[in-house]
Amino acid sequence: MTDIRGRLHIDPGANGTWVLAGSIDETSQLGELLARAQQGRLMLDLGGVQFINSLGVRDWIRMQTEATKQHLAIDLLRVSEPIIHQFNMIIATRGSSHVASFYAPYACDACGREESLLIDADVHAASLAQLVPPTQTCPECAAQMAFNDFPERYFSFLVPDSSRPG
Ligand SMILES: [Zn+2]
Repeated sequence: MTDIRGRLHIDPGANGTWVLAGSIDETSQLGELLARAQQGRLMLDLGGVQFINSLGVRDWIRMQTEATKQHLAIDLLRVSEPIIHQFNMIIATRGSSHVASFYAPYACDACGREESLLIDADVHAASLAQLVPPTQTCPECAAQMAFNDFPERYFSFLVPDSSRPG
């Protein structure tokens, strides 16, 4: 029951979640996703979104703005790294959505493995607010992995607008 819009695939997931995969662009008709909200809430799993182009970003911001206008809550789960980069570059892309969990880059100094690992933003809210990445264990050699980006840059989407520098 896959809904295919251009290069974006939309599938029903668990617990009323909609699973997005592929690329978000001008053919993705993001605005129509809002009609799938249930009881004022839209849950999107973004784990499979690998790319978003500039027109996709424009439509994504329009969707967020419209959701805010309609008082629809958007929960974002498993947000992939390309989307997090957009959140950090353009504040409006996050809108008033709630990021429940997201992927972040880690690297293992012991064996050299690099991996995008999932972080539960609610469980780790306190440490993330302090820009401290959660510890992760290497799936290859079980050593502790190091966060592979600048925390003050990668986690800036979690910092309230009012306390952002500049
Ligand atoms: Zn390792």
